[in-house]
Amino acid sequence: MSPDGGGVWAVLAAAGRGERLGDDRPKAFARLGELPLLAEPLRRLDESDWVERIVIAAPPGWEEPCILLAEELGAGKVASVIPGGASRAESVRAALAEVAEDAAVVLVHDAARPLLPEDVIERIIAPLSEGWEAVVPALPIPDTVKRVRGDEVVETLDRESLVAAQTPQAFLAESLRGAMASNSELQAPATDCASLVEARGGRVKVVRGDARLLKVTSPADLELVASWL
Ligand code: C5P
Repeated sequence: MSPDGGGVWAVLAAAGRGERLGDDRPKAFARLGELPLLAEPLRRLDESDWVERIVIAAPPGWEEPCILLAEELGAGKVASVIPGGASRAESVRAALAEVAEDAAVVLVHDAARPLLPEDVIERIIAPLSEGWEAVVPALPIPDTVKRVRGDEVVETLDRESLVAAQTPQAFLAESLRGAMASNSELQAPATDCASLVEARGGRVKVVRGDARLLKVTSPADLELVASWL
């Protein structure tokens, strides 16, 4: 399924606390319909024709509920569930350690983006066989974007050259391992993995994202995503 015949592994980053949701449980276990939020992206990755194995970075202390949920869903591709770290990058780093050495491609996906369309997975994997090290789905930015310092506008950016990056992001496994190994959290915290590949001069391609990949951060987002289900 992958460019050179090796396996495609998916890392599902689900260890965030999700404080902005105002819930007493981690965001991955906020209710989306009848099930925890995590169920939707997990089921979609498990059913994807592209994905062979899945590693879940769980909220620390919530590994067992993640395993039970995977069993309930019959998500047989889950290879391991590990406790996530203090930051997203630390969670991905811990999950990557569980990915098989011979994996060719690693997808990294935010559990907070539950509505994962299969065609996005196809779009991000294909360019990896054309010399790209990483591929990110992204959408144009409809608003005018300004850089500010405190309450003062410093500059207005050229919207035409800006996009909003989403997940899942696809990586040659070797590139992601190298980028994660050379990143230390002493640098500015990485909010996505592609930025770590970019920082090392890696070639990162952007492909069309999908509005349904909205990241759930507020109760209103959760309601919106539930209405799209
Ligand atoms: O809060 P943020 O936008 O960084 O979350 C993006 C994704 O990263 C979420 O799916 C969240 O569960 C995950 N995350 C993680 N470990 C952390 C922080 C966030 O896996 N320590």
